[in-house]
Amino acid sequence: MLKIHNPATGELIAEVPQASAALVTERARAARRAQPAWAAQPMQHRLDIIQRFRVALLAELEPLAVTLTREVGKPISQSRGEITGLLARIDFFLDQAEAAIAPEDVFDDGATRERISHDPLGVVANISAWNYPYFVGGNVFVPALLTGNAVLYKPSEFATLTGLHIARLLHEAGVPSDVFAPLVGGGAVGAALLEQPLDGVFFTGSHATGQRIARLLAPRFVKLQLELGGKDPSYVCDDADVPTAAESLADGAMYNTGQSCCSVERIYVHERVHTAFVEAFLSAVRGFKSGDPMDEATYLGAITRAPQLGVLDAQVADAVAKGARLLCGGARRPGPGNGFEPTVFTDVNHTMDLMREESFGPVIGIQSVSGDDEALALMNDTRYGLTAGVFSRNGTRARSLLARVNAGSVYWNCCDRVSPRLPWSGHGDSGIGLTLSTHGIRAFTRPRAWHLRTP
Ligand code: NAD
Repeated sequence: MLKIHNPATGELIAEVPQASAALVTERARAARRAQPAWAAQPMQHRLDIIQRFRVALLAELEPLAVTLTREVGKPISQSRGEITGLLARIDFFLDQAEAAIAPEDVFDDGATRERISHDPLGVVANISAWNYPYFVGGNVFVPALLTGNAVLYKPSEFATLTGLHIARLLHEAGVPSDVFAPLVGGGAVGAALLEQPLDGVFFTGSHATGQRIARLLAPRFVKLQLELGGKDPSYVCDDADVPTAAESLADGAMYNTGQSCCSVERIYVHERVHTAFVEAFLSAVRGFKSGDPMDEATYLGAITRAPQLGVLDAQVADAVAKGARLLCGGARRPGPGNGFEPTVFTDVNHTMDLMREESFGPVIGIQSVSGDDEALALMNDTRYGLTAGVFSRNGTRARSLLARVNAGSVYWNCCDRVSPRLPWSGHGDSGIGLTLSTHGIRAFTRPRAWHLRTP
């Protein structure tokens, strides 16, 4: 049995049977058998089902949000925000799926026609993280199902109850149970899933697990997408609107208790505005309420995985030992559960783990820089490349910097933002492949080249 604890209280909230290796094989075989009939349905049939799933999510918004908060420790207002955010992503997919995979006639000289069709991959694995289970799951299973794939879905062991609700709602909406099959469990169940014959693996999680999966799948040439971690930087120029930048970046660093793949993890500030920025940033952070995630006013909830507290402790100790100045926080929150105080450092540099390794918690370093060249060099001094931002009143200056940052998404005067209309991808150790946008619909298909010569 998988034991599920509330990370904010430590309380055991559920025990759920884990999938055995035999069940994983059985579900994979059933998905293989069921997929062709699903793909053969008209697109409108699949669109109608996903539309019903959307309606059901909205109808059950409150209990679903409570479940999410209880199992991952996310503040209740942010749990609601995640589910309503998924509705907007579903709307994009419903609107775009048909056109994105419509066959394309690309040549016709009277004798020969050339056409591209976009066929479903087949049976795909969706191995998901816990920090945004609706988002990172939905980025995969919604377009995968719409484009005619069967999905073997392994929710994170830290978001299992949410994963089971997602499966129930999809089944109630009309997705056959063999076409969307949840597999409950941790890494061992994920590993058993990867043993199955698969046509695609769509993984969201840590770099370490992603690398393990890439090694395992390499000899089999299975299509693989990895959405991994980041160490996302932002740079505040000397011409920025400092109070607005500070407010936006405090939110970007601390939202979801710092447990977003695209959390702001490092901030560089031009020396001319450094003091004013730090003051405004601290004041924004001090305004965030920490504590019980079920409290409507709470902004910082629990650290979902207890071992991450050790990572945060170690980054704080390393930064302090190397001369960083602690402005607030720096310790676990007293009381039950996995709390960590919002933590802000200045006088940081790139010898510190805090500025180089993913924190995945409410911990941030702010480094003063002499100008754009130094900021750019520091932003690119990382093995990751998920997102990066520049705050400036000058669009030309900001765009010139952002064009040279090694990152999949770049932000001018904003941060920690994901749009269904834009591709979501990482460079370097942040992963390979992409989700979202029309490219992220086609990611679940393979093109077939048709050479058609009329007799
Ligand atoms: P994780 O790597 O521990 O787990 C991710 C998933 O992989 C879970 O479902 C887990 O059970 C499964 N898994 C573990 N070992 C496996 C194995 N050997 N074979 C197959 N599956 C296995 O990551 P996590 O703690 O759930 O997620 C946090 C990480 O995810 C952070 O680094 C974060 O930045 C990243 N993330 C990235 C994005 C993105 O879009 N780039 C989005 C969300 C989270």
